[in-house]
Amino acid sequence: GLDVGRRRERRAWRGRGADDEARPPFDGGAHLSAPATPVAGARRIVVKVGSSLVTDEGRGLDAEAIGNWSRQLAELARQGRELVMVSSGAIAEGMKRLGWATRPRDLHDLQAAAAVGQMGLVQMYESQLRGHGLRSAQVLLTHADLADRERYLNARTTLLTLLGLNAIPVINENDTVVTDEIKFGDNDTLGALVANLIEADVLVILTDQPGLSSADPRKDPLATLVREARAGDPPLERMAGGAGSAIGRGGMLTKVLAAKRAAGSGADTVIASGREPDVLLRLAAGEPIGSALVAAQGKQAARKQWMLDHLQLRGAVTVDDGAAAKVRDEGKSLLPVGVTAVHGDFERGDVIAVRSTDGSEIARGLANYSASEARRIARQPSSRIAELLGYVYELELIHRTNLVRR
Ligand code: GLU
Repeated sequence: GLDVGRRRERRAWRGRGADDEARPPFDGGAHLSAPATPVAGARRIVVKVGSSLVTDEGRGLDAEAIGNWSRQLAELARQGRELVMVSSGAIAEGMKRLGWATRPRDLHDLQAAAAVGQMGLVQMYESQLRGHGLRSAQVLLTHADLADRERYLNARTTLLTLLGLNAIPVINENDTVVTDEIKFGDNDTLGALVANLIEADVLVILTDQPGLSSADPRKDPLATLVREARAGDPPLERMAGGAGSAIGRGGMLTKVLAAKRAAGSGADTVIASGREPDVLLRLAAGEPIGSALVAAQGKQAARKQWMLDHLQLRGAVTVDDGAAAKVRDEGKSLLPVGVTAVHGDFERGDVIAVRSTDGSEIARGLANYSASEARRIARQPSSRIAELLGYVYELELIHRTNLVRR
């Protein structure tokens, strides 16, 4: 299960946008008496729904199902939770609109169908979410966007800004420019990448199965539902090895792999049936539905490790004693005004070191500005960034959520 320390970390976590006054305070599920599920204690939740659910097995967009999730999202938003929807279904809806009875093999046809169907998909989400008093926003992403440092930071900041505006991002893969999820994933991987990107507490994968089974239930009558396991445990991949449903590409294997990936940023994953009545509300109320694949380490530890292990240092800044104390002792953001020197030639989104006046490294983090921009705004108050550069990415050179203290 989840240890108390992790939940405390979650409760203490206040990401960007979480300070919005319109959002009610979130108590991290502390009011619950039922056994806590990963969703109960989660503030930031990514919900992923696959094509077969969204389109009722390919019959066309299921207004009732999307309306049901929208109603539940509205209730979860009232509880003070931050929500992101990752939805496929563009191809299935596009095929219907184009009058195609069978899924084509030609990737260009599938990409065209996705472009046709995406119109209907977002239209449906927009009207259903609006009907429940929620703002929504369309975001189309690719894996490559998230591998690129600058695009990663842009996508992250946009999504966190949307959450701060109480708008629900409805995300799909940008099928016009890539074919990853069309070929393999049915957006399971994208769901995990989004969970990584915004450091979600939990990824909920809604599917047409009750969860992860110990064996293929169609072949093995002794198959049982996996209630809880550690995300990334090798036996899970063997259990999930069978084939998926006919509409989407993703079977259980892509879901188990998505859980492993989500765990990389400390997010737990729940795989549950999207047809279960009020599944999101019941999970949030602490009812264990489906399979919980729990991350081995918490979000902050995971992020720290990711930043230190995977990213190469591209430059550094020297900061004055005041800024050093704020960053090192209080975990505050680094503002340009505290920067006395800029070293190296880094880009926005690169990892840079923060050094105190004696040259020792006190922290590392993702730079919001390139080295040449940083040189122009160094020693200046953030209120002057617009005038000095002509634009503002952020008021901070490194935001505290992108900063790891040494
Ligand atoms: N992005 C695709 C969609 O929304 C993935 C799903 C699929 O391959 O059917 O349709």
